[in-house]
Amino acid sequence: MIPFVDLKREYQEIGDEILRAIQRVIESGWFILGNELNQFEKEFADYLGVKYAIGVNSGSDALYLAVKALGIHSGDEVITVSHTFISTVDAIVRNGARVVFVDIDPETYTIDVDQLEKSITPKTKAIIPVHLYGHPADMEPIMELAEEYGLYVIEDASQAHGAEYKGKKVGTFGHLACFSFYPTKNLGAYGDAGAIVTNDAELADKLRMMRNYGSPKKYYHDFVGVNSRLDEIQAAVLRIKLKYLDQWNEKRRKIAKLYSELLDNSDVITPSEKEWAKHVYHLYVIRHKNRDKLQQYLSEKGIKTQIHYPVPVHLQKAYLELGYRVRLPITERISSEVLSLPMYPWLSNGEVESIANTVLEFIGR
Ligand SMILES: *Cc1c(COP(=O)(O)O)cnc(C)c1O
Repeated sequence: MIPFVDLKREYQEIGDEILRAIQRVIESGWFILGNELNQFEKEFADYLGVKYAIGVNSGSDALYLAVKALGIHSGDEVITVSHTFISTVDAIVRNGARVVFVDIDPETYTIDVDQLEKSITPKTKAIIPVHLYGHPADMEPIMELAEEYGLYVIEDASQAHGAEYKGKKVGTFGHLACFSFYPTKNLGAYGDAGAIVTNDAELADKLRMMRNYGSPKKYYHDFVGVNSRLDEIQAAVLRIKLKYLDQWNEKRRKIAKLYSELLDNSDVITPSEKEWAKHVYHLYVIRHKNRDKLQQYLSEKGIKTQIHYPVPVHLQKAYLELGYRVRLPITERISSEVLSLPMYPWLSNGEVESIANTVLEFIGR
């Protein structure tokens, strides 16, 4: 059996270090907003090349607070994609703003920059590009349009820790960028965690208060905030795993290369990497016309796969009820074709070969 993700293999590699770090926190008797988080925020900001990182409870909270920190509310519009994880879009709706969906580029599966400008209206306040599967969105034209129309940009980098656009890490382009440290992400905690990063000192201060009941100092509250903090145990785990991120991303890239070589010259569409991109393969996503049957076949052979995502956000029940009836032809077509093969740094070449061969076996039938 080859599982879709296997975090037990990660633990076999770094378990001793992780246990020591967790023990250090427990023995310190300090669990919320302490030294581990301060250090992690510094180290993560340095890793990316930004000034500030603010740890929060999840990637979803990071997105929600980012939209809120920019003062976006009802009557405003925010442009994003429908081919993403639901939280990207929920962050807009939870702030009372209206979502304007833009279709995706069929090669990178990220926002189609050629369709951006026509989606901008006088109500538009922000754009949220998603660096989906680990491939960066085309940031240069996005930032140019944002500048021209006076819009904010919030990057959703939840699947792209360490990915690069024109040699610079994603998360460093927008006014704000959001990361999830959900356990299976390229940089994952051992529980829920997330962060917002920025170069803007004022936004950083505001977000630090927002995640802590709007509090500049204990028992003083300047506005109504939330409780959304990255706890000390998770921060300690993340500090250790951050040291391995580049090395593990390289392993993902090698695995992706092997998959793509083995699946070349078949009617499977393999992921592409633009010349301006460094893909970090949070997911290795192929496309095939008979996706459902292929998934079934792989499953029967003990190979577990997933679909990211089977139903685009605008067609989810929650969104139909909100009146989002748009046509997004590429998004809608792709959701019936995509299939994510197992992808994690501890997959062996033998396993990758066996998965690819099983895919080819299915096609040959
Ligand atoms: C994982 C993910 C999120 C949400 O992160 P959580 O930490 O699970 O709340 C948001 N956007 C994208 C693109 C994601 O992949």
